[in-house]
Amino acid sequence: MTPDSIYFSPEATAFRERTRQFLRSNIAPRLDTWEAERRIPRETWKLLAGEGLLGLHYPIAYGGRELPFFHSVAYLEELGRLGNGGFRGAMSVHSYMATAYLHLAGDHSQKTAYLKPAVEGDMIAALAITEPQAGSDVSSLACTARAVGDGYVIRGTKAFVTNGMQADFMVTAVRMADGPASGSGNLSLFVLDPRSPGVTRTPVEKLGWHCSDTATVRLDDVLVDRTSLLGRKNSGFLWIMKAFQLERIAAAVLAIGEIDRALELARRHTGERQVFGRALADHQVVRHRLAELMSHTEAARQLAYHAAWLYSRGTLAMSECAMAKLRATELAVEVAGQCLQLFGGHGYLADSPVAGLFRDTRLATIAGGASEIMREVIADTDL
Ligand SMILES: Cc1cc2nc3c(=O)[nH]c(=O)nc-3n(C[C@H](O)[C@H](O)[C@H](O)COP(=O)(O)OP(=O)(O)OC[C@H]3O[C@@H](n4cnc5c(N)ncnc54)[C@H](O)[C@@H]3O)c2cc1C
Repeated sequence: MTPDSIYFSPEATAFRERTRQFLRSNIAPRLDTWEAERRIPRETWKLLAGEGLLGLHYPIAYGGRELPFFHSVAYLEELGRLGNGGFRGAMSVHSYMATAYLHLAGDHSQKTAYLKPAVEGDMIAALAITEPQAGSDVSSLACTARAVGDGYVIRGTKAFVTNGMQADFMVTAVRMADGPASGSGNLSLFVLDPRSPGVTRTPVEKLGWHCSDTATVRLDDVLVDRTSLLGRKNSGFLWIMKAFQLERIAAAVLAIGEIDRALELARRHTGERQVFGRALADHQVVRHRLAELMSHTEAARQLAYHAAWLYSRGTLAMSECAMAKLRATELAVEVAGQCLQLFGGHGYLADSPVAGLFRDTRLATIAGGASEIMREVIADTDL
């Protein structure tokens, strides 16, 4: 990271330094325990909220700090740099995915009821779009909302809901039962209380991201009132496509932070580890491998910043966001693998930090839009 940047103001750079120190002092020492316990304590959201980190880009009126978007970019990069996928997943879903829909589509009373307490760390947010039979293909969602009296009855199953076990509200994408059984024209978004009668949450075990809770959420005729509808009826697909831009920028920037962490670990290790009478880093093949990875990282970082800059100016940048996510997350998987190789057998031990990165980065090319979907978006772009 160069200190002089066209993207980061001196204030944003100073904010990054403060945030890095805060995360290193208050979060990093606890991550191994949370990983082993398969949980992030609820008070952690409050701790981050105390630093303003849960609402950097949200309006002051709803508890946010209304800071320029590159403060968020700095925060997300530092979050990734902690090197723990579950923690960064839980926090980024809360602040840049689930609550994004309230910001985009919510009315004043919905923002007051959900966005503000989420920004202040008093409520945990989750986003439920994916279903067991529908992930990449959002237009095939099957969970339905049927109008009954003054409200709706929701029925279906949501899969892979990050923060799903702890969440106080869940932004949920559903198909309106009075429309067709497939396609994107009759999707709507609801804010749902996961403690309502008819909701069953079941945790799922994963390869990595251990401290982050992930749930399957069954919705058996869950009654919600009309005020739970976010935005207009049948406008869900539009909001999802809009919010995907931010989600993909966040995924790209988080991945860059994770890559920085992996390279930092690899450079330290190769500087210390002696093989055949010299440091590993003194073998030209190792130096050159690291130099290659560092160069690719810088290119991916600049692409992510460019996408973030377009987004911050309100430009529709679907393709750039997809390119940034594709490049950064694929690189994160590659770098984590290469760094594990440089650690040798020590890298393969369960408690090795590069093993954690190897497991956790693997998800990034799948969640929030798989690499194949990113390529589809890019390929569809007019030149
Ligand atoms: C730990 C974790 C946390 C998650 N958190 C959330 C969350 O909070 N909220 C939420 O809604 N979802 C969440 N997800 C779901 C995630 O976004 C989906 O897994 C992802 O969108 C892919 O959907 P799928 O798993 O159904 O895979 P599928 O759609 O079945 O795709 C399987 C694979 O097929 C390939 N593929 C798909 N489409 C195409 C195509 N057109 N051409 C070529 N290849 C293709 C891709 O490689 C893809 O990975 C989470 C997932 C995990 C594992």
